[in-house]
Amino acid sequence: MTNTLYDALFAPHAGKDTPFLHLPGGDTLSYSAFLDTAARIAQVLTAGGLVPGDRLAAQVEKSPEALALYAACVQAGIVFLPLNTGYTKDELEYFISNSGARLLVCDPADADHLKPLARAHHAMLHTLGPDGQGSLMPAAKEQSDSFETVARTPDDLAAFLYTSGTTGRSKGAMLTHENLLSNARTLEDLWRFTQEDVLLHALPIFHTHGLFVATNTALVAGASMIFLPKFETGAMINRLKEATVMMGVPTFYTRLLGDPGLTRELTAGMRLFISGSAPLLAETHTRFEERTGHRILERYGMTETNMNSSNPYDGERRPGTVGFALPGVEIRIIDPDTDKPLPAGEVGQIEVRGPNVFKGYWQMPEKTAAELREDGFFITGDLGSFDADGYLQIVGRGKDLIISGGYNIYPKEIEVLLDAQPGVLESAVIGVPHPDFGETPVALVVPRDGAEPDTDALAEAVGTSLARYKHPRLIKLIDELPRNTMGKVQKNVLRDAYSGLFSPG
Ligand code: ATP
Ligand code: MG
Repeated sequence: MTNTLYDALFAPHAGKDTPFLHLPGGDTLSYSAFLDTAARIAQVLTAGGLVPGDRLAAQVEKSPEALALYAACVQAGIVFLPLNTGYTKDELEYFISNSGARLLVCDPADADHLKPLARAHHAMLHTLGPDGQGSLMPAAKEQSDSFETVARTPDDLAAFLYTSGTTGRSKGAMLTHENLLSNARTLEDLWRFTQEDVLLHALPIFHTHGLFVATNTALVAGASMIFLPKFETGAMINRLKEATVMMGVPTFYTRLLGDPGLTRELTAGMRLFISGSAPLLAETHTRFEERTGHRILERYGMTETNMNSSNPYDGERRPGTVGFALPGVEIRIIDPDTDKPLPAGEVGQIEVRGPNVFKGYWQMPEKTAAELREDGFFITGDLGSFDADGYLQIVGRGKDLIISGGYNIYPKEIEVLLDAQPGVLESAVIGVPHPDFGETPVALVVPRDGAEPDTDALAEAVGTSLARYKHPRLIKLIDELPRNTMGKVQKNVLRDAYSGLFSPG
């Protein structure tokens, strides 16, 4: 069995005229055309001096060429390092200097202002535009389409992905061929992917969700993808009819629900809707089922480990849970005080072990040692518990845990109560420094359109279900929650904004 990414994901499709990417305008790119482009890019990269193990950083809009760049790197043994297209030049500076990338690939419009940055960090700079000086594409067109795949071992690095930076500065996660391939094969099997599948793909490809969970799974099965540059409700509604599977973040689902075009009929040809990257509200799950008849399958993953767990394909998909550990992956709940496993129902730190677990954080040996245990378990930083039937529930991040007067408060427990109140769209509960209690819970509440919930009434409503120490000390209405590009709520931004609420003076 082939055990490196190019051999397993790409090579089997060489020369096939079967569809790979269905593009926004209606065109379709075949597997063979895609792989030709990738091979040509691989030649340009190696001719330009890149050698196996070098890192190629790419900050490019989603396009077939951007995806071919990934394939080219994998084929040439170059470590692919995709970067969030939302990063500013200053942010980019950190990633380029931290990663030691040898080549930065950007969009043509950014080339001029990124030139000095690349030069300062001794990186080459190319664009991915259709033409123009310094673009990889015209150079690639002149190459032949045969490129000899560079041999790699399963333990070699295939990609290097920065975490989303939701809880602090992004960390570079080193991912091997085995990490990515084991996941792709497991997901193909678990989610029953075949080459007949058409995956509706509107996720960014700089993140583990869109690049690995979605794309690698489609590739290993030889499926095709409706490849949209970004999520746009109208475009999604237009193309759902052609698809069989959709993968998205929770905000995709809430936005689709806001469109009257989402109906049972429209989704009749779909066999699977998957959600991940952030918690899916139980309410979204229910509303989606009412509208379409489909039960969304929620799953759990992260940059460092790709996918950890999934609700079952055949069995009950339980809202508010992320299902069971993937085959070959172990998940345990550990009491941070005793370092011992906790029984079902008790909340502790979620730890993961398996072929999916990364090699460590780039140039952060202490952090790696602190989070990757000697027995192979990775301390995810998430808190959770198993329910009586073994479904994993995520209650939040360790960093968001509130400790008030010595008591642990899980923000989610308060958030679900607030979210269920009339007039409330969503909420975030954070710990704010308090002179008497160390920290105290504060709730930020976003009203539904046009609603003006009374905060005293909210306090009373949730108060009846919560022990006194969990009562939010303040409930404040705000217009929206700060989110990053993956739709994750940035609680550190909220904590910074409200940190002075109770400080004396
Ligand atoms: P950073 O590590 O830089 O703070 P991040 O953890 O948000 O950023 P990612 O690796 O993109 O970076 O996200 C992984 C995290 O997303 C998980 O650790 C978990 O907290 C959250 N997550 C993923 N899927 C789910 C889910 N289905 N439900 C709840 N949380 C989820
Ligand atoms: Mg993280």
